[in-house]
Amino acid sequence: MDLDFAPEDLKFRDEVRAFIAENFDEDMRAKAAQSKNGHLDKEAQIRWLKKLGDKGWIAPDWPVEHGGTGWSLTQKYIFEMEMALAGAPSTSNMGLRMCAPVVMAFGTPEQKAHHLPKILSSDVWWCQGYSEPGSGSDLASLSLKAERDGDDYVLNGSKIWTTYAQWADWMFCLVRTSNEAVRQMGISFLLLDMTTPGITIQPIPTLDGPPEGDQEVNQVFFENVRVPVANRIGDEGKGWTYAKYLLQFERGNAYAPGLSNQLAKLKTIAKLERSDLGGAMIEDPTFRRKLADLEIKVEALNATELRVFAGRSAGEAMGATSSMLKLEGSQAQQAVTELALEAVGVYAAPFVRDTWAEIRGETNVPRAGPDYAAPIAPMYFNYRKTSIYAGSNEIQHNIIAKMILGV
Ligand SMILES: Cc1cc2nc3c(=O)[nH]c(=O)nc-3n(C[C@H](O)[C@H](O)[C@H](O)COP(=O)(O)OP(=O)(O)OC[C@H]3O[C@@H](n4cnc5c(N)ncnc54)[C@H](O)[C@@H]3O)c2cc1C
Repeated sequence: MDLDFAPEDLKFRDEVRAFIAENFDEDMRAKAAQSKNGHLDKEAQIRWLKKLGDKGWIAPDWPVEHGGTGWSLTQKYIFEMEMALAGAPSTSNMGLRMCAPVVMAFGTPEQKAHHLPKILSSDVWWCQGYSEPGSGSDLASLSLKAERDGDDYVLNGSKIWTTYAQWADWMFCLVRTSNEAVRQMGISFLLLDMTTPGITIQPIPTLDGPPEGDQEVNQVFFENVRVPVANRIGDEGKGWTYAKYLLQFERGNAYAPGLSNQLAKLKTIAKLERSDLGGAMIEDPTFRRKLADLEIKVEALNATELRVFAGRSAGEAMGATSSMLKLEGSQAQQAVTELALEAVGVYAAPFVRDTWAEIRGETNVPRAGPDYAAPIAPMYFNYRKTSIYAGSNEIQHNIIAKMILGV
């Protein structure tokens, strides 16, 4: 199998590189460098998406008639790789990558005409309302009630872990419209305006940093929220089919390019002098061995991802491979953040508050640390999520066992 890029692909890679160099500006780069999760703030994120939109590169996975790029799988891979290597946030947000494919496949002509252009222009931010307290891996047990009242559904209940709900204009949401014996058959798929009266968003504080304005996950409460029946996707009770269709778009990104970018940063940090060590972490043989192990892992993952892309280009099905890539990719992501934490040591939490000093009534002086160390601890805590979301790693093990071992 030939894993080298063809000359026209290399030309395309240069074009992508030139575009990123010109448009991923200083402000965005500075924010990306301090980011705990690779995202920018909402304003910068939208600014970047609009630049990609103006270039016609915002929706590589969409069909051309809806505004897609018409790229080959290799071009899509190159695009994702170059974006990740530059530290630019990917276009795989909830509107473009998750909601839009469902609207395209199952929406009415009115729903397509209303929502798709606004997703493409990045004028509307979407969030995903799937998980509920007690209904995550076992999603079919969800219970957010939607009762029919005239031309509306009336919603009562809550959604949880809703990423960036505080920024969202719209939510795509799974609701329970009936209590069938087969739980999946009582679920419907709604699109709802987040400004509808009765919706309350409550941030969930997480270990990765102060929640003010920067929280990633939320609980969203619904109290007699009226959603027009016209906002339902497809048939009542068929939401599970649409939800499963959507989930295939949640996974499937390449991990290796982002990991290569993180490893390069990690190596730079490990070479810096630490006054508490009297040297740099890279000089420690145990640390170097761990780093080398991880680099080999990422190289192997990269080769596997390229092989999978080459296979997909030739029409091969993904099968359990996407679960294996998710497992390996998420574990490597976590390993990078663990080593980064080791590399910066005591500087990892430069803003630790001395609560005993506060109790004694003394002024609290946060421990000073270099700028490069500031995002490391938040990043370490933030990346614990990668083995939970998009189908937890235990669930991926189950899928692999079922599809490959037949158990
Ligand atoms: C940062 C973050 C962002 C998220 N964003 C969103 C979002 O925007 N929208 C949304 O709808 N959801 C979101 N989620 C929710 C995510 O999809 C769920 O957390 C995930 O599906 C796991 O569900 P749970 O948290 O209820 O855990 P549970 O399903 O209760 O699982 C708890 C533990 O038990 C294990 N387990 C469960 N079932 C099995 C099984 N059958 N076999 C073996 N082990 C099992 C799990 O692997 C896990 O370790 C997000 C989660 C995180 C962490």
